[in-house]
Amino acid sequence: MSTRRRFIAGAVCPQCKLSDKIVVDLDSDRRECVACGFSEARPEAGSSELPTRVTRPAARRVETPASPVRLIDPNDD
Ligand SMILES: [Zn+2]
Repeated sequence: MSTRRRFIAGAVCPQCKLSDKIVVDLDSDRRECVACGFSEARPEAGSSELPTRVTRPAARRVETPASPVRLIDPNDD
């Protein structure tokens, strides 16, 4: 089983407060912190979101050149 996860550039973990540790599961839209294990289901509309601008699929597809997307090994636990 291959789970596709993608780092969210600039996102801050609400639990451990580290930045650039949040990944989003592209299949379920869950968010997880690779540093402390925090995970969060897809946020409801209107709830506070992580400070990022790269997660909305409806947004422009242009991604920030300075923040390349990094795929991580799903077995890297
Ligand atoms: Zn964390």
